[in-house]
This record gives sequence, structure tokens and C-alpha cells, in this order.
Amino acid sequence: MQQQPYQYTKGKIAVERARMSSDNVVLGVTFGVFFLLTFGYFIYSYFDEVAKHLGGVTFLGGVIGLLIALVLGCVFLAVSLGIGMFLTRMMRQQMLGNSLEVQYSAYAWLRDWSNEVAADLEMPQVEIFITQNPVINAYAFGFARPYAIVLHSGSIRYLTEDELKVIVVHEMAHIKYKHTDASVYLIPFLIIPIINMAGNWIAGFWRRRTEFTADRLALAYIGDAALVKNALIKVHVGPDTAKDMNDVARQWLQYKAERPMNRFAQTFSDHPYLVRRLSQVDYWDTAFHAAQAQPVQTASATPVQSAPNGEMAAQSSAASTQTPKPPVPPRKRKNSQGSPKGDNASEA
Ligand SMILES: [Zn+2]
Repeated sequence: MQQQPYQYTKGKIAVERARMSSDNVVLGVTFGVFFLLTFGYFIYSYFDEVAKHLGGVTFLGGVIGLLIALVLGCVFLAVSLGIGMFLTRMMRQQMLGNSLEVQYSAYAWLRDWSNEVAADLEMPQVEIFITQNPVINAYAFGFARPYAIVLHSGSIRYLTEDELKVIVVHEMAHIKYKHTDASVYLIPFLIIPIINMAGNWIAGFWRRRTEFTADRLALAYIGDAALVKNALIKVHVGPDTAKDMNDVARQWLQYKAERPMNRFAQTFSDHPYLVRRLSQVDYWDTAFHAAQAQPVQTASATPVQSAPNGEMAAQSSAASTQTPKPPVPPRKRKNSQGSPKGDNASEA
């Protein structure tokens, strides 16, 4: 029986290439830690009470206590999730009241373009709002439809049309890979006072990864590494001195970024350092080109490989995802970077 040739659109290939399954592993671990923290409180409270009243804990008492803790924990999660979904919807309603939807502006083309991209990436169309904020930035939010991207007015002013496309695809990636949905599930753990400080730090490891993944989709879809890097540089250092981020500046920042103290400091940031993002773009650009130069590989012939930031780039193994994931070039320690980043609203 003759096998049909695989029909991959540009969007499908980009989505498969940029996908990093280890992101979900890190997200799972994050949820696990949060569950323990949450249930741990209820369990401790229960046993503390029992110990006070009975002077000890029986086996039956322990089982009942555990069940009560589980039920209370689930109720807490359900209520918190409901609040998170409500807040997300309120955010969108406020956008509708306080900002301009891009299709009513001179940038209407951006909405048309994003609709085409959404079809290509096989994801829901996104609303794009422009809000008054001179800082170049953007973020995505939503839980199920509708999903929205908010562009700061500074982005409109200082970014070229092509750079705006980079930012929009980056934000669309947060929706496509369900980073925005997952962020809503994280809300319950991040609204509890005291715990939320540790919670944000813990969630940061996953969030920073999502930024790399969103950058990677922008690169894989748009295919212009210099353009993607220019957009990122403008977002991080501003438009006036963006052109001054030359090789010497990058090498110095890269060198410092590898120092232990710098790496530790980054764990308190919801985005990866700029130089790490730039290095990732260069790294994957090389990898994507290497993949294009080679015939499509089958799953059985492709080992798991390590990306420069330590993430595991597992090759697709499912028959439905036999898109060529790029072979990874020689490990470049100098250009490697560390951990990754997010929020309810995933900023660029
Ligand atoms: Zn982002």
C-alpha cells in the first residue's frame, strides 16, 4: 500500500518545530508542587486540630482527615479557578471599554494578517487591542475563546510592520501552546497571600520556558532570525539604542549571564534575559536550517537531543507529527542559556 505524502503547511511545520514537550513536564511538576503546598496546609491543619483534641491520631482519623483535605482542596481549586476565569473575562471586557481594536485603526491589516496566521497555525482567531502605554510590549490572555492580544501603543509607534508581526506571532504562540489557558489554572495558587511569592518564583521556571517557545514559533513561522532578534532587542532595551546591541555588547552580556549569581537572579524574572533569548534564536535558526538541508527523518532514527539551554528536544515520534524536528548543532556552551518564564497575561 502506497503511503500518502505528508501534507504540511508552513504553519503546521512551524508549530511542530517550535513545540517543546518538556515545557509540559515542567508545568506538570509546577502543578504538583502547588498541589502539595495547597493540600499540605489542609492536612497540617486537620492533624493539628485532631492532635489538640484527642492527643493522638488514629488510622481511621488519618484516612478521614486525608479525605477531608482532598475534598476541601478540590473545592478550593474549583472556586479559585472560577474566580480566575471570571477575572480573565473581566480583563477582556475592560479592554473592550478602554482600548481600540486594531481593525478599526490604520493597522487593520494586522488583524487580517493574524487571521490568516491563525488559520495556518490551526488555532482560534485572536482579538488584537491597542492600549495607551508608551513601553514597547504586548501580552496575550484568554481562557477558551475569545483570546486576546494587547499591543502597547509604544509597540505601534516604535516597531516596524515586520517587527509587529514577530510580536503578534510570539503572542499567538502563547495561545496556541495553551500557555494562557495554563496560566488561568495557576491563578488559584498565585492569589493566596504569602504563598504567592514562592508561587510566582516556582511558576517562573515554566514561564521563562514558554517565552523561549513563543520566540521559537515566531522564528519558525517568520523564518527571519535577524528580524526576530531586532524585535526582541527593541522590546528589551528600547528603540533608541536597539541598534547598539552589537556583537561586543552581546558577548559581554552573554558572559555575565552565565555567572552563577546572574543565573540565580534570573529565576526572579518572569522573562529570560535578552541575551539568552537572542542566543536561543541563533541556535534554533541554525538547527532549522540544518533540518531543511536534510531529508525528513523518521522517528526511530532520531534520538532525544539536548538544546543549549538544557531543555530536551524530543523528536516527534507519533505518526501524525513526523515533521522534521531539527537536528541539534554542536553544543555551544558560550551561547547557551538557562531557564525560561509567564503570568496570567503572557507578556512579550
Ligand atoms: Zn511572551
